[in-house]
Amino acid sequence: MPLTSPTRQAAIIGGGPAGLFAAETLAREGLGVTVYERMPSVGRKFLMAGRGGLNLTHSEDLGRFLTRYSQAQPILTPLIEAFRPEDLRAWCEGLGQETFVGSSGRVFPKAFKASPLLRAWLARLESIGVRFALRHTWQGWDADGALAFTDATGQPVTTKPDVTILALGGASWPRLGSDGSWTSILGAKGIAVAPLRPANMGFTLPWSEVMRSRFEGEPLKRIALTFEGATVKGEAIVTADGIEGGAVYALSGKLRNAIERQGSATLHLDLRPDLSQEALTKRLSAPRKGQSASTFLRKAAGLNPLGIALLRESAPQLPMEAEPLARLIKAAQLTLTGTKPLERAISTAGGIPFAALNGNLMLTKLPGVFAAGEMLDWEAPTGGYLLQATFATGCAAARGVLSFLQIPDAALTSNP
Ligand SMILES: Cc1cc2nc3c(=O)[nH]c(=O)nc-3n(C[C@H](O)[C@H](O)[C@H](O)COP(=O)(O)OP(=O)(O)OC[C@H]3O[C@@H](n4cnc5c(N)ncnc54)[C@H](O)[C@@H]3O)c2cc1C
Repeated sequence: MPLTSPTRQAAIIGGGPAGLFAAETLAREGLGVTVYERMPSVGRKFLMAGRGGLNLTHSEDLGRFLTRYSQAQPILTPLIEAFRPEDLRAWCEGLGQETFVGSSGRVFPKAFKASPLLRAWLARLESIGVRFALRHTWQGWDADGALAFTDATGQPVTTKPDVTILALGGASWPRLGSDGSWTSILGAKGIAVAPLRPANMGFTLPWSEVMRSRFEGEPLKRIALTFEGATVKGEAIVTADGIEGGAVYALSGKLRNAIERQGSATLHLDLRPDLSQEALTKRLSAPRKGQSASTFLRKAAGLNPLGIALLRESAPQLPMEAEPLARLIKAAQLTLTGTKPLERAISTAGGIPFAALNGNLMLTKLPGVFAAGEMLDWEAPTGGYLLQATFATGCAAARGVLSFLQIPDAALTSNP
């Protein structure tokens, strides 16, 4: 039985996974919950994430998992420990969507998309009384301290709930609803929001005309990228003006910071991470027998035309001797000169600093107002870490609300 009177009202602004999970947690405790969402439907970015299979979380050891949040690790650790990867899988399975661990350790729903999960989730939310105010765009607070929205016709709508959870997301893919316009609303309240920047995005670099015209859209498979001592094996894709893809995203935070600091960042590309430099040198010591450089590199080093073109981008005059050639194949240099814009990024860095929140994710300057999800200042690589922290912070903000309203949290009291 709910432990509280249903007259306690919670407004959740933003119908992404953070807001919907907070809504579920609060409605289960008997609060009256309304989710305000600017778009005609909720969960649009969640559905977009489903196009790539919906990588929900990761199966690696929790200690290693938590390191993925870099500077935000100390703050996110207790929140993710309170809502772990196995809890997220169990929640998904509770909605009838079995999960599986892929070969990389990433966790996906078996359906490999978000739509059946979101459908079942919305049915559950409606069954526990969550209301939805769609096409409601949050504008801030009015002079009486009420939440102010505009509805589909542009008419003002105000409401004064007991508590509010802000879950408005970052600013990538703004056509899906999250455009970061909340930063100025919170800025006007004296909250110093860290500038929103792209995370998990591509980079620009000045390719030669040959690269651009012949190799745009070509994948680079089984490569390794190294930057500032961190090496990532995986794949990347050549774009008309740069490079993107999983291995690039994994280093994107460090690369972005370096470009912001010094205008460019030099990435080292290993085209044969499966071979040691010595083994490669041995192969390249074979007689060339009049073969062209391309034929020789294809046969002796197993490089395809894209790999060979990348070597030429790094060193227009390819070395003739085996040892420097092997060194080049193991560490071709790509000088990145810019980041792809935030609108095209998978996620957002920056946002509400944790210093502006208490341990329950309540804004210390705005008692009764909590925040969750990607609008908080943390970043992580792809691999399921984004959704895991999104759900965990949604859960933490909802539990923070219960503690603020002095409602015992059934989930905490029944599972000591
Ligand atoms: C292409 C792509 C693929 C991705 N794939 C994965 C993946 O496989 N795994 C993973 O972990 N993560 C993935 N992500 C990231 C993940 O989708 C996000 O981290 C997650 O959706 C963030 O959830 P959120 O609830 O914080 O914000 P959002 O999902 O952005 O939701 C915020 C909501 O707030 C609403 N809103 C914003 N402003 C207002 C306003 N003023 N008034 C009212 N409503 C407003 C928005 O319309 C939106 O519905 C992917 C992202 C993209 C773009």
